[in-house]
Amino acid sequence: MTAPPSGVVTRIPITAPLIGDQEIAAVAVPLRSGWLTQGPEVAAFEREFAEYVGAPHACAVSNCTTALHLALLALGVGPGDEVVTVSHSFIATANAVRYCGATPVFVDIDPATFNIAVAAIEPAITTRTRAILCVHQLGMPCDMTAIVAIARRYGLWVVEDAACAIGSELLVDGAWERVGRPHGDIACFSFHPRKVITTGDGGMITTARAEWDAHFRLWRQHGMSVPDTIRHGASEVVFETYETLGYNYRLTDLQAAVGRVQLQRLPEILEKRRAAAARYGALLGDVSGLRLPREPAWARTNWQSYCVGLPDASDQRSVMQALLNQGIASKRGVMCTHRSPAYLTMVWRSRDDLRESERAEDRSIMLPLYPTLKEEDQQRVAAALRGACA
Ligand SMILES: *Cc1c(COP(=O)(O)O)cnc(C)c1O
Repeated sequence: MTAPPSGVVTRIPITAPLIGDQEIAAVAVPLRSGWLTQGPEVAAFEREFAEYVGAPHACAVSNCTTALHLALLALGVGPGDEVVTVSHSFIATANAVRYCGATPVFVDIDPATFNIAVAAIEPAITTRTRAILCVHQLGMPCDMTAIVAIARRYGLWVVEDAACAIGSELLVDGAWERVGRPHGDIACFSFHPRKVITTGDGGMITTARAEWDAHFRLWRQHGMSVPDTIRHGASEVVFETYETLGYNYRLTDLQAAVGRVQLQRLPEILEKRRAAAARYGALLGDVSGLRLPREPAWARTNWQSYCVGLPDASDQRSVMQALLNQGIASKRGVMCTHRSPAYLTMVWRSRDDLRESERAEDRSIMLPLYPTLKEEDQQRVAAALRGACA
């Protein structure tokens, strides 16, 4: 890296992936072997991922959006169905419901965790409801015990949008369990660079049901009856068939090779993220009116993002601009899907019910947090934020 010109402060980005020589070396393996997609690296990444989260099955796909699409398809979500979810999420969450021809029904969030407000779920359930799609927003686990209890009472499926939540944990019957076992019926992960580990783009679907896992494997590769791993190794000629309408939702071996190294780095990444979050807590704890994120007693987040609620008197855009003027990137709170032009014609529950979602978008900001974030840079961020809130 070249040094910045003197007098110019270094920019602090919102995030930065932790990638090193090992990932670069790992990509060379499939490149040299010539097996570039849906091969041995993908299979190994799936095995290692399943083992890490404690899931019986893990199926790699092209990204978390396609993972969510396949998860909902496996549950039979289709036209006329409703899926209870949050508006306060990346737009891909609700889009996956629409890909199935179903309708997302938005409920509000709990401002303390930015996750679905458990008390708002039941009133949103109708005879058309088929599933609850909850989001472990910014890495913070949802209250899965409560959500699954409601789902079971109404005969609904539960999909976890765990895009941001690799390495996050839930306390279940006195023991910590990783998100993705899964605690609902199916969990979906993302490996986009904005997430905690990355393969450039990529996704993973975990479930305990062998039958759904088999569907995912068919669908991700055009509905083809014989996977490449079997066809290429066969000693007799094999003719494949196409059993069902499928998609091209494959992960490549290049991506999987990177993912395997990233998974090995994850403990170190989590430790550094947790240390950085604790430092923000110490640096910002006394800023009047600023609401810092906190883990419920039963949850451990991976701190995919560190999102703070601004004091009532401060303006979001001005605070962000003040940070930017000092070379510090920030992001506004998670956007509300129901406010996007792509959703203006959609039906959702009364806007008034989404007050906390809108407030979280308008009144909170995310601060830089990544494994290589330096302590002095965090001090700079804290000082700039303190000044902007004063
Ligand atoms: C990033 C994200 C997605 C989409 O993940 P991709 O891998 O980019 O498709 C879905 N849901 C949430 C909550 C996300 O943060």
